[in-house]
Amino acid sequence: MKKILQDLSFAETEEKVLSLGEKKFRAKQLFEGLMQGRRISDITSLSGAFKARLSEEYEDEPVRIKETFYSSDGTEKYLFSLSDGNLVEGVLMKYKYGYTQCISTQVGCRMGCKFCASTLGGLVRNLSAGEILSQILVVNALHRGEAKGGRAVTNVVLMGSGEPLDNYAETVKFLKNVTAEGGICISARNISLSTCGLVPKMYALANEGIPINLTVSLHATNDADRQRVMPVAKAYSIAEILKACAYYFEKTGRRYYFEYTLIEGENCDEAHARALVSLLKGRPCHVNLIRLNEVKERSLKATGDKEAYRFLGFLEKGGLSATLRRQIGSDVGGACGQLRAGYIEKNSYKESL
Ligand code: SAH
Repeated sequence: MKKILQDLSFAETEEKVLSLGEKKFRAKQLFEGLMQGRRISDITSLSGAFKARLSEEYEDEPVRIKETFYSSDGTEKYLFSLSDGNLVEGVLMKYKYGYTQCISTQVGCRMGCKFCASTLGGLVRNLSAGEILSQILVVNALHRGEAKGGRAVTNVVLMGSGEPLDNYAETVKFLKNVTAEGGICISARNISLSTCGLVPKMYALANEGIPINLTVSLHATNDADRQRVMPVAKAYSIAEILKACAYYFEKTGRRYYFEYTLIEGENCDEAHARALVSLLKGRPCHVNLIRLNEVKERSLKATGDKEAYRFLGFLEKGGLSATLRRQIGSDVGGACGQLRAGYIEKNSYKESL
């Protein structure tokens, strides 16, 4: 695999361009072209010789949309292929205020959550900062015409495959580059990072000074229950997670979020709702309830709509700020990891590693 230009910040791009004997303003042309989602070979303002020189060292197209699935509600799901043939997936949700893109940070995942399809084959590899960013650049390029100023993707959630804090250095580098002036410049306030609760990395993130929204996948109200569905809960307790969240709030001034996937017979009766209220009441947080997207390799079942709204009602009555996530794009391939797993199975696709 060649190197990836989209890994570089503007300052690093400039350094590289100068080291290749080109004039400084070429760095701006190159960087702008890349941020518009162009391949090196498609940046018309650069000379053929310079592009050929760059292409010897760098991937022309580090992330490519291999397939797009269109949902009847406007949601688009993508299967991206990386230059080594690995696959990750992403989603674009269209709202009135802009488009929210869900992106992946790893090929596969090693966290082992019992309800999640991304982790079924374990971790294959981390994505680089530029591969994470390029998922946005190619999708934004596709929809550029739909937005003023050419930036259609306004919001980003790190909720695709992988555990972002398990790929900490590249994820933070990505966050710095995606929010930087002169780049695609997505506001940190419009970016949400979801973690299964890697506590030491949550503290580290709080200290980075990038005020993104921190979301923790909770899915249970006590450690014993949580350990049944999330192996990572054996390493970090809910009490430790709550302390790290409080620290995040103290450092960034941002309220934090919890995801709570409703699993039939596991975590969504009235007693669980009460336990969740007493755990979180008075904290500067919001709870997002998610309906389980059933994964065929797992036996866990989703709750019905009525039960989901009932659970939400208990939380609201208890004084929590909470919402039940609208189910979007469910007609085109389900939750995290299901597109990739389905594709690999259907096509006996061998990832070339
Ligand atoms: N690794 C990160 C982000 C990836 S998943 C994390 O654990 O937070 C984003 C969210 O989707 C997490 O809350 C995850 O628990 C949830 N999720 C995964 N599989 C799901 C499924 N089949 N149905 C519903 N939610 C799921």
